[in-house]
Amino acid sequence: MNRVYNFSAGPAVLPEEVLKKAQEEMFDYHGSGMSVMEMSHRTKTFDELIGKAEQDIRDLMQIPDNYKVLFLQGGASQQFAAVPMNLKKNGKAAYIVTGQWAKKAYQEAGKYLEAVKVASSEDQTFSYIPDCSDLDIPADADYVYICENNTIYGTKFKTMPNTKGHVLVSDVSSCFLSEPVDVTKYGVIYGGVQKNVGPAGLVISIIREDLIRDDLESYVPTMLKWKTQADNGSLYNTPNCWAIYICGLVFEWLKAQGGLTEMKKRNEEKAAILYDFLDSSKMFKGTVRREDRSLMNVPFVTGDDDLNAAFIKEATAQGFVSLKGHRTVGGMRASIYNAMPIEGVKKLVSFMEKFEKEHAKYTKNR
Ligand SMILES: *Cc1c(COP(=O)(O)O)cnc(C)c1O
Repeated sequence: MNRVYNFSAGPAVLPEEVLKKAQEEMFDYHGSGMSVMEMSHRTKTFDELIGKAEQDIRDLMQIPDNYKVLFLQGGASQQFAAVPMNLKKNGKAAYIVTGQWAKKAYQEAGKYLEAVKVASSEDQTFSYIPDCSDLDIPADADYVYICENNTIYGTKFKTMPNTKGHVLVSDVSSCFLSEPVDVTKYGVIYGGVQKNVGPAGLVISIIREDLIRDDLESYVPTMLKWKTQADNGSLYNTPNCWAIYICGLVFEWLKAQGGLTEMKKRNEEKAAILYDFLDSSKMFKGTVRREDRSLMNVPFVTGDDDLNAAFIKEATAQGFVSLKGHRTVGGMRASIYNAMPIEGVKKLVSFMEKFEKEHAKYTKNR
């Protein structure tokens, strides 16, 4: 068996303990004589499984009782439409555009209401988080929308925007469960789980109860109404049973590791190793403004396309895979989610040091 160090942005690395547990339970989940993939979602066994998964994420994030936890399909992208459809009242919403995902959400919302771009960092390839302490937010905005961690560009909101009393909606896909959060600061928190939590095809939406309404426009599909999903405990139709199961195992794993406080500590430690090296290297440079750096996604460049390509090729051969950056940034990106062990980051940095020495001719004249 030959496991690599997988730096993919998503779908991404999962804890080995979780994969092993799923393997053990594949033929006979809890005495049912079948795997979770083969099991009706209307069984008592599955009911217990989803109930425990919900309780565990509630414990991990300390989700208050007046928030619903929904396990939905269609990925994070489906919520780009569901958010405006479910929250539309006055027909206006404020969007802070800090990357491709926020931009897509903004464009999608524009189909259903008046989406107002109140801040953007597109002028500098989304390499920073704009000052959001005093934005011109329309008084009648139904909500303020952010993408909290920008997977492609490697930026993260360290302070929440001043929403001036409006409901805050946050896409946390790539920082989900990476550190403790104060859920009460948000109206809606949602994330596709395939970045930091589980397999693709499942999005978890955590929604304050008063925002789950029935008085929606008549065109809103039954499946996209949060009310439908909340009233049916995420079981209106067949859910992504397998992904819910794996997420449940990841929640158990997170609890056993010491929860989100411990995750934050480890993630800070891992990120510091990589950023410290980038700050000292003559060859590799981070692409993000220092104070806005993500703990999860770390883009970096050499400034030379051939050298980038050589690096990715040699790294891959050494078992450090999926390091190629997004096409809009170029260069490299190391995603170092919860399940990436610290040894993976240390070994990557050692490899980068070695690569820099071996290719020193490129940096001599800089
Ligand atoms: C990956 C990603 C998405 C899209 O997720 P899908 O589940 O593929 O729709 C949305 N937002 C962020 C921040 C992401 O990283």
